[in-house]
Amino acid sequence: MASSVSFTPMNQPLAAFRTHECAYCQSPISAGERWVREKVLEPFRSEAARYRRYHADLFGEEVLSCWEKHQMQQDTQKTKSPA
Ligand SMILES: [Zn+2]
Repeated sequence: MASSVSFTPMNQPLAAFRTHECAYCQSPISAGERWVREKVLEPFRSEAARYRRYHADLFGEEVLSCWEKHQMQQDTQKTKSPA
C-alpha cells in the first residue's frame, strides 16, 4: 500500500534557465557583473518581447566586452551585406 507519489521541490529543471546567461559567450552572468540588455523582437510574437544579455565588463586582458564584440559583429554584418 505504499503508492504515494512524492514531489521533490528541489527538482525544478526550469530554474536552470532563470540564471542570466551571456548571449555572446554563453557563460552565466554573475550577480556582481555588469551586463547590457538587448531587446529581441520576435516577428511571430510581437507582444512577447524577449531580452538577451551580454557581459559589459572586460575579462582579464580583453579589450572589448561581449556587448561591444556583439555590436561590432552586427556592424560588420551590415556593411558586408549588399544594399
Ligand atoms: Zn559574455
